[in-house]
Order: sequence, then C-alpha cells, then structure tokens
Amino acid sequence: MSYQINLTTRDGQQISFSCEDTQTVQDGAEAAGFFLPALCKWGSCGSCLAVAVAGDYKLEGYSDALLSEAGKLKGDVLLCRTFPLSDLAITAPYNADQIRSGAQTVRQGDIVVIEKVAERTMRLVLQLLPDDLQGMAFEFEPGQFVDLETAEPVIRRAYSLANNANWEGQLEFFIRLQPNGQFSAYLQRAKVGERLHVHGPSGTFGVQQQSLSPRCFVAGGTGLAPFLAILRRMADWGEDHPTTLFLGVNNEEEIFCQAELTALAAAIPQLTVEICVWKASQQWQGFVGTPADALQIHLKNAPVLPDVFLCGPPQLVEAAIEIAHRAGIGDERIFCEKFA
Ligand SMILES: Cc1cc2nc3c(=O)[nH]c(=O)nc-3n(C[C@H](O)[C@H](O)[C@H](O)COP(=O)(O)OP(=O)(O)OC[C@H]3O[C@@H](n4cnc5c(N)ncnc54)[C@H](O)[C@@H]3O)c2cc1C
Repeated sequence: MSYQINLTTRDGQQISFSCEDTQTVQDGAEAAGFFLPALCKWGSCGSCLAVAVAGDYKLEGYSDALLSEAGKLKGDVLLCRTFPLSDLAITAPYNADQIRSGAQTVRQGDIVVIEKVAERTMRLVLQLLPDDLQGMAFEFEPGQFVDLETAEPVIRRAYSLANNANWEGQLEFFIRLQPNGQFSAYLQRAKVGERLHVHGPSGTFGVQQQSLSPRCFVAGGTGLAPFLAILRRMADWGEDHPTTLFLGVNNEEEIFCQAELTALAAAIPQLTVEICVWKASQQWQGFVGTPADALQIHLKNAPVLPDVFLCGPPQLVEAAIEIAHRAGIGDERIFCEKFA
C-alpha cells in the first residue's frame, strides 16, 4: 500500500512524495530524490527527528533514549524508523535548503593532530585531500557534524565539527573516550598520517539567525564542539549577540578549551561562559553542579527568556529540555543535538 507524505520544513516549504507501508519515510523520500538530514538510519542517532502532525504510522526499532514518552505523545518520530499506515503530514525542524537533492559526499582526510586535551578527551584535526568539486575547501554550517570512518576494521561514528568552514580543508573535533568504545579504542592507537573517510556534512543543529532573543548554550563535555564552531563564527563575524554558555564536566581534570573560551568571551563582549563542575574539589571556585542546574538558575533570573541550545549526552539534553519547558520556553525555541 502506498501513502502520500507531506513534509513541511521550518521555513514553511512543503515537499510531497509517496511512500510504501513497507518503506520508512526516510527511504520513501530518498526514492523520490529528497535526501532528508539523517545519519545512522537505524534509529540510534536522532538526526532525523521530526513531528508527525497528522496520520497514522508505526515506529520500529530505535533507541529509547531518543524519544521520550511525552515526545511520542505529541508525534515525535524518527523518520528512519517510521512506516506510514495512512497519508502523513510531518513537520521537520530544518529549512528546505538542508534537504539535499543528491547523495552525500565522501572525502578523505589525513590525521594531522591527535592529542589528549583533558581526562578522557581527545582533540583530532584532519587535513582533507583536495576534491574535484570543492578543491581543498569544505563547506558546512557551524553546528553540523560529519561521519568519520576508519579503514580496517570499518568503524563509522558521528562527530560535531568544532572549527569554522575554511579554504584549507582542516576539520577539528573534540572526542570523549568511551569505555569499551570502538572508535574510542581506535583513537588511542591512531597516528598522525593515518587516513579517514569523512561523510557529510550533516545535521541541522545551529543558531537561528533570524531570532533576536538571547541565546543560552548548554554543553555536556564534548558537547562543547558545535558551540565552539558557532562561537568562533560569531567572533569572526563580529556578531555580538547576548549569549550564555554553560559547559558541564564531571571534575576539574575534564575541563578543556578553557583558554579558548576565555579568548572567545573577550572577542564577543556579550558572551558569558560558566564552567559547571559536578564533583568539584575544595579548590574549585566556579559553579558546582550540572549545566542543567545552572540553566535552571539562569532561567529563573533571566529578564527575557532565551532560545535554548543543548548538546551532549541524551540524559543531560532531556533534563535541560524539561527545565526549559518548566520555565515557559516552547519546543520551537529549544534546539538539541544528542550524542546518542
Ligand atoms: C550527531 C552526533 C554528533 C556527535 N558528536 C560528537 C562529538 O563531537 N564528540 C564526541 O565525543 N561524541 C560525539 N558523538 C558521539 C559519537 O558518535 C560516538 O557515539 C561516541 O564517540 C562513542 O563511540 P565509540 O565507538 O567509542 O563507542 P561505541 O563502540 O559506539 O560504544 C561502546 C560503549 O560505550 C557506550 N557509549 C557510547 N557512547 C556513549 C555516551 N555518549 N555516553 C555513555 N556511554 C556511551 C555504549 O553504550 C557502549 O557500551 C556524536 C553523536 C552524534 C549522533
């Protein structure tokens, strides 16, 4: 049985395509030549999150951390795991220009820097090889991510870009080492000069340029990466938008990029940076608690409610969404990237 899918983007554009009941909405769109933002395609990353506003569907085989019960009740779906049972109307949290009309590009990148910058945190810099279409350059919007893929054995994972798009083809990443993680293990044995495949860029996370509201960024650990890209762009463009960044770490040994954040705060006068240490030592003079705790206090005292941007582990993102909701901030002003 085939159904009609009408998908409306954040900027009010509509695309329509048909989709079999045996096909996911994501696959139906691709068969019709629309490449909707998506990454893992097996319900584990959350990059294809959208809202089904009308129609029936079934959701099959996805990570529970990505869809809360409340979210599912209001129609949250992962398009890569959504099978239509009737015609469907869907709203997507991205603009029409983020829907590609061709397959994703793959580039090659050589490791030029691999270093430990804090407890369990690696900094990785890749130098892309030239490409027939783009030359050395690599275009992306701050907030986006790429998929990095190793050669043998093949391991493919998503990582947010921490730097700005540049003509030199350099990409920077901050990656937390997960216990028993496959890519984490690879990073600990990787050497300068090794080559990785780079798929992308992908994703729709990023600031809403048209909004005049203050911005509040909440980062859990390496969830700082996309905010670094956004803040570096703001500094480069002289964009002095009222912005507060809460960076959460478990202990002081996990703090990274402190000097860089201090430099960004000097370059962006309306930027406030607060590092939140959960299990702080007696010596720690800053905020003690999680960045979700800091957000709660911030929203209580804020004269104007900000747009809220969240990135990091799903538990932190979910806790912060709840806090933002309780403060009266609607979903249309909450933007998140879960490192699921
Ligand atoms: C869009 C997107 C962007 C991302 N960007 C970044 C980034 O910039 N920096 C970064 O550090 N990570 C990022 N991630 C997470 C990253 O893709 C990997 O999931 C992570 O690096 C673990 O990969 P691994 O191969 O080492 O672990 P896996 O082999 O995938 O997992 C091994 C074990 O570790 C556990 N595990 C994996 N991830 C986590 C976690 N986050 N918290 C707790 N336990 C975990 C698993 O449950 C499993 O038991 C991003 C994820 C997404 C979806």
